[in-house]
Amino acid sequence: MTQPSPSGGRGLDARSTDVPQGAGVPAWLAASITHCASCGSPLELRTVEGEERPRLVCADNGHITYVNPRLVSTALPITDAGEVVLLRRGFEPGRGLWAQPGGFLEVDETPSEGAMRETLEEIGLEVAISDIVGLYARLEAAVIVLAYEATIVGGELRTTPEALEVRAFAPADIPWPEIAFRTTWWALVDWLARRHPEVRPPERAAGR
Ligand SMILES: [Zn+2]
Repeated sequence: MTQPSPSGGRGLDARSTDVPQGAGVPAWLAASITHCASCGSPLELRTVEGEERPRLVCADNGHITYVNPRLVSTALPITDAGEVVLLRRGFEPGRGLWAQPGGFLEVDETPSEGAMRETLEEIGLEVAISDIVGLYARLEAAVIVLAYEATIVGGELRTTPEALEVRAFAPADIPWPEIAFRTTWWALVDWLARRHPEVRPPERAAGR
């Protein structure tokens, strides 16, 4: 017998978003994409015959500018003692709160390479990617967050402008009330379920 989906049929990757399907380009993002890349004419957000959601359309030649989410590739670096390394974010969104290292994937790297690069840049650790923990929608920011589990293979833990504080947390000591994003929250939940099922995460409060 099939279990009912915990995310209303949208898939597990929808646990981390409230944005409904079908709304099209959010206004904040449309505001930053103003001109047609093919001819330079202004774009207008409107319905188009044959398209199932509003589109950014060139006012001159009808060319559609499609907008897709970007991939954020992240790592949960795990120490030899089985602790998970998190950083206190130096920038908005989520400044002062805890998240894992990660960032926007470059067009010339694999997701694993992106997660390794960001981890080195942000907290000084060289990691080897070991496993996918999960994939999480954060449509509020038009991103999809990929979380890997990673083994620390070198480098030296350090703070950076992006990471005001860096700490390894034992599974039972994860700072849940100060987790920056729902994507981080669910990645930690999924990691615990796999590696430390005896540790039960708290119920998630609304928001972020
Ligand atoms: Zn155009």
